[in-house]
Amino acid sequence: MSSECLFCKIINKEIPSEKVFENEVVFGFRDIHPQAKEHFLFIHKRHTQNLNDLVETDPSQLSDLMGAINEFSKEKNLHQSGYRVVTNIGKDAGQTVFHTHFHVLGGEPLKQFGS
Ligand code: 5GP
Ligand code: ZN
Repeated sequence: MSSECLFCKIINKEIPSEKVFENEVVFGFRDIHPQAKEHFLFIHKRHTQNLNDLVETDPSQLSDLMGAINEFSKEKNLHQSGYRVVTNIGKDAGQTVFHTHFHVLGGEPLKQFGS
């Protein structure tokens, strides 16, 4: 928990969000500025800055996150139609919130990279 972190505040419900998934360790909610018909963010409840930080400190959290996304994609019927998982790491990728998060995008055909 980082007291100044926006997503830690969302986990602790100090800031409201549209929750779509929660278990002991992972929290999922709708992105406030959706970039696709369906756009969710999945975060681990333990604060890390980005995926590098997460993997270097507790790589098992990666399977916590992907396990949750997999479970959620089945509930949401995204499993068959497909979806995209994206994480931005640092400045050049345009990361704006420094609590590791996976974007989960789908619900429609997505633009290919570079098009
Ligand atoms: P990044 O650019 O760091 O990969 O992604 C941060 C994401 O968090 C953006 O897609 C942005 O729309 C989303 N976001 C920023 N602030 C909030 C918020 O207060 N609530 C929710 N639900 N999403 C947020
Ligand atoms: Zn945090």
